[in-house]
Amino acid sequence: MIRYTLKHILKAAFVVVAFLVPMLLVPGLDETAAGLIEPLSAGLLQPPFEAMGAPGPSRVAYITIDDGPSRTITPRMLDILQAEGVPATFFVVPMGRNADNLFRRMIDEGHEVANHTFTHSNSTVYDSRNLDAFREEVLMAHNFVLDNYGYEMTSFRFPGGTGGRGERGVELRREILHELGYRDYDWHAYVGDASPGWESRSSATLANNVLNNTRDRENLIILMHDTGSKRATPGALERIIVGLREQGYIFDIMRNYDRNVQIMSERSP
Ligand SMILES: [Zn+2]
Repeated sequence: MIRYTLKHILKAAFVVVAFLVPMLLVPGLDETAAGLIEPLSAGLLQPPFEAMGAPGPSRVAYITIDDGPSRTITPRMLDILQAEGVPATFFVVPMGRNADNLFRRMIDEGHEVANHTFTHSNSTVYDSRNLDAFREEVLMAHNFVLDNYGYEMTSFRFPGGTGGRGERGVELRREILHELGYRDYDWHAYVGDASPGWESRSSATLANNVLNNTRDRENLIILMHDTGSKRATPGALERIIVGLREQGYIFDIMRNYDRNVQIMSERSP
């Protein structure tokens, strides 16, 4: 008959501490170093690591690039995406931007061109007394891309996102969008290249705003901008692609996402 002495108990405890605990912790530490999970203190308090999901092809990131195209920044973004073989979704604002071939490049290189209204003018897009003005904004952008490039847009992003717009106002506009064959998307993670203080943010800072906030999402919509002044954003794009790959993400375009997304972390202009 085995007698469980204090020695046995200590020995069993030693086995647990010496072998099992490191087996649990070491993958966690590696994942933390790779930015996969929250900082260590939070990570260790989380449920078993299995529940947090292992990196794998089921994770999909959707890079969305708003407010362009611009002659200075958009070509650099396209070059990076092409070199990395990554598709993105460009939520364009066509007004005054018909003089270059950037729309053509987006389409030919496998990106999605998406509707962000014709003018991005809040006073028109969100005029509470005139919903027709909203419809016009969507249609003008739609027809610009269709007539000039033979491309039919189906994804829409509200200028600034839907947050704080008032539920009813968004609902009424969304009815119009559905009527016109559109689905709309906000975002999960934002680089911070257009909110107050953006001018002083480096590419690394912008990238980390995303890479440290993926929160293990299986689907991750990322917001950045390609207007002419966003000099740090192309560098951030490159870092984000590399970093997300390390976290197990693959990339896709917005129209392959199967539902509306109305989650925002921060207002964007
Ligand atoms: Zn915008």
